[in-house]
Amino acid sequence: MKPKIAIYWCASCGGCEEAVVDLAEDILGVVEAVDIVLWPCAMDFKRADVEAMPDGSILATLLNGAIRSTEQEEMAHLLRRKSQFMIAYGACAHLGGVPGLANQFSLEHMLKFYFEDGPSNVNPEKTRPQPVSTVNGHELTIPKLHNVVRALDQVVDVDYYIPGCPPTPKVTKAAVSALLERRLPPKGSVLAPDIALCDQCPRKATKPTNLAFTEFKRPHLTQLDPQTCFLAQGVVCMGPATRSGCEALCIGGNMPCTGCFGPTSRVRDQGAKILSSLASNVAPKDAAEIDKVLAGIPDPVGTFYRYSLAKSMLRRKVSLPVDQVLK
Ligand code: SF4
Ligand code: SF4
Repeated sequence: MKPKIAIYWCASCGGCEEAVVDLAEDILGVVEAVDIVLWPCAMDFKRADVEAMPDGSILATLLNGAIRSTEQEEMAHLLRRKSQFMIAYGACAHLGGVPGLANQFSLEHMLKFYFEDGPSNVNPEKTRPQPVSTVNGHELTIPKLHNVVRALDQVVDVDYYIPGCPPTPKVTKAAVSALLERRLPPKGSVLAPDIALCDQCPRKATKPTNLAFTEFKRPHLTQLDPQTCFLAQGVVCMGPATRSGCEALCIGGNMPCTGCFGPTSRVRDQGAKILSSLASNVAPKDAAEIDKVLAGIPDPVGTFYRYSLAKSMLRRKVSLPVDQVLK
C-alpha cells in the first residue's frame, strides 16, 4: 500500500498548485511513491470520497491558501481528521498571505467595493451573491465568508509548514522526501533553514552595518544597482526579517525581498521586526523631516505585512464588536 497524500487549496491564487507541478520530472517520482487521493485542481476526486475514508488514513495533506469561507473551514477540519500530518503549504496557509491583507477592511466594506463601488462594476441593482437563493424552484447554496482571513493553524492543528509564495521546487521536494522517509523535525517546524535571508544573499557584503535613511525609494521608480544591497540603495528589503531557503530568488531578479518565506523562529512578528529596524535607522530627528522620509513607504501594511498580517500581533483592523472579530 502506498502512502496516501491529499492536496487542497483554499483562499489562494493557484500559484501553490503550479509549484507542485513545477517539480517537473520529480513529480513522477512523487506520483510513483504515493497515492494522491484528493487534488481538485488536477484529479476528479470528490469531498465524499474523502469523507468515506477512515480517520487518519491519509499520510499527509498539503493544504495551501488561507481560510476565509465556511467551506474552506469545513475542508480544513475534514482533512485534518483524515490525515496523520497536516502541512500548511505556502505563505497563505502558513501566515494568511496576501489574502490576509483583507483583514484591514470589514467584510461589508469588501463586498460593497467588489460588487457595487469598484470602478469597473456595472451593477445598478446592487446584486450580491447570497448564501442561499432559489432558482427555478431549486435552492442553491454557496459558502459564507467569515469576517476575518485566518492562517491554517488558526483553524486546525498544523504539523509542519512549507513556506513561500509559492514554495520553491527545491523546498517542496526536500519536504516531501523528509515526509516519505520519516526524517521529520519536531512538530511545528517550518521546513526551511532557520536563518535570515541576508545570510544567504549574494549582496550581503554590501549591506551597511550602520544604516541612515534619508529617503525610501520605490523599486519601480528607481534605477537599481544589480550588485548592491537594496537597503544601501534606500529600498525596503525584507531580507533581515525573512527566513532563507528560496536561494534569494527575487534578489537574483534585481528586486528586493518582500518576505514570503515568513520570519525565522526567533522573530514573533515579521512586520514589527523590520519596522523597528528601519525606523530606528531614519537619519533625521525632526518630526516633520521624519514624516518626509516615511512618506517614501506609502503602504506600510502592504510593505511590512504583505504575507503575515493574519498571523501578526495586529492580526486585523478592528471595526466590529469583539465577539464578531474572533469568528
Ligand atoms: S537586505 Fe536584502 S539585499 Fe541586503 S543583504 Fe539582506 S536580503 Fe540582500
Ligand atoms: S527573496 Fe523574499 S519574497 Fe522573494 S522568494 Fe525569497 S523570501 Fe520570497
